[in-house]
Amino acid sequence: MRIIFATQNPGKLVEMKKMLAGFDVLSAAEAGVLEDVEEDGETFSANALKKARFVAAKTGEWAVADDSGLCIDALRGEPGVYTARWAHGRDLVEYTLECMKNILEGRRGAHFESAVAIVSPAGLEKIFTGVIRGELALAPRGQALPKLPYDVIFIPEGYKKTFAEMSEDEKNSLSHRGRAFRLMRAYLEKISDQKKLA
Ligand code: IMP
Repeated sequence: MRIIFATQNPGKLVEMKKMLAGFDVLSAAEAGVLEDVEEDGETFSANALKKARFVAAKTGEWAVADDSGLCIDALRGEPGVYTARWAHGRDLVEYTLECMKNILEGRRGAHFESAVAIVSPAGLEKIFTGVIRGELALAPRGQALPKLPYDVIFIPEGYKKTFAEMSEDEKNSLSHRGRAFRLMRAYLEKISDQKKLA
């Protein structure tokens, strides 16, 4: 079963290929889709669905998209769905740390959210979500995958390391996207089994 991942984000693609090992995963660019859709939805789910629908319509194949972001308690949930554009061209981590400079340890709670949408060639649509609570470090630590900048300051609940100080497998076992993808993987495995039995 071939699945096209509707993303131009190389970090997300690395994570997706690992979490969907055993499935034939291509990026949208590898499938010949170079355009991006505008992420103008008000929720992660709306944006994920829009991206997946676009690529499914363009390719005629199964398409998956993730929309995700960081919601910071002290900033009343910002940047949320606007994470990718929030810093107005400034370095996202630097800008975030600046907004948080008066927020002391113990009050730096945040969560990552991910919505993963899958759309079949026949128009079947499903959404899976994942959330991980944590807190923001006072300074960056570790090495993040490309275009996943917040990994250097996000410390998941119950841990002392940032995501960027963890192995890819450790991050995926905890992360918002890991949680959503595992639900999607279980769904895809169920569908593949049903097809084999039919
Ligand atoms: P979008 O889902 O492509 O709209 O962008 C989500 C943005 O949220 C990314 O560009 C990152 O800045 C941030 N983000 C989402 N997931 C992660 C993650 O796992 N680690 C670090 N940053 C993330």
